[in-house]
Amino acid sequence: MKSKLLYGGIEAGGTKFVCAVGDGDGNIIEKIQFPTAAPAETLKTAVFFFKPFVESGALKNIGLGSFGPIDLEINSVTYGYITTTPKPKWQNTNIVGALETELGVKVIFDTDVNAAAFGEFMFGASKDLDPSLYITIGTGIGGGYVIGSKTLKGLAVPEMGHIRVLHDWKDDDFSGVCPYHGDCFEGLASGVAIYKRTGKKAEVIDDNDAVWDLEANYIGQAIANLVLILSPKKIILGGGVMHSKFLFAGIRKKVQETLNNYVQHKDILENIDEYIIPPALGDNSGVLGAIALAKEAE
Ligand code: ZN
Repeated sequence: MKSKLLYGGIEAGGTKFVCAVGDGDGNIIEKIQFPTAAPAETLKTAVFFFKPFVESGALKNIGLGSFGPIDLEINSVTYGYITTTPKPKWQNTNIVGALETELGVKVIFDTDVNAAAFGEFMFGASKDLDPSLYITIGTGIGGGYVIGSKTLKGLAVPEMGHIRVLHDWKDDDFSGVCPYHGDCFEGLASGVAIYKRTGKKAEVIDDNDAVWDLEANYIGQAIANLVLILSPKKIILGGGVMHSKFLFAGIRKKVQETLNNYVQHKDILENIDEYIIPPALGDNSGVLGAIALAKEAE
């Protein structure tokens, strides 16, 4: 009997890499994670993990959800590259090329947040809800979107972390941390912004600290904008900052206030507690999504 095909998934983050092999139906068979070091060393570890599965003939494609910015344009000379990233040593890294050459399998390339959005859409909190949106609020901020059962790519890639929100100068004189825009959404509300503003990491800040009011304000405004533009049927908020679960209540309230009854749908007006929610797959959204992208590409 022919053994079941397997698929690889990589969640390539700026802090850590997660590599897994699974069946493409939401089950992980083997998984490792390790800190993101320089490209050569990091990719060597990933190749070492996948190699036995490739050599056994069981592993088909590998899905790769990567931090960025990345080049997803198939005809571009730098397709498959991490491009202008501020992450040291990773600028202009041909990550897809390196993995395909070393492993001899096809690599399906997407953003880390698109992979997470796809994982939740296939197996998690937004299962079968099309379109749906996944926003990560961690070191940085990004959004992934699934529409027509596919992840959204475009001219480049969506960069939802860099939209504008109204800066609350009255209670917040912090100028923001985005090197490109200063006080864009990520500049004001990312984990780095919280740290630079308060001198403390998000996880050690008291639940009653005023910084959380700012955080709920900025995240709520950004989500309201994204609701108006993308009209998702579910919004999932992941990432390290959102481990502070009490934030959800303030965010939902701000979304309702900002929309001000304009979007007449019961999911926003009455059931917002089930509309803006945490991921169901925990820390596996990205890697399960990457594995599913690999299966879809067959
Ligand atoms: Zn920005």
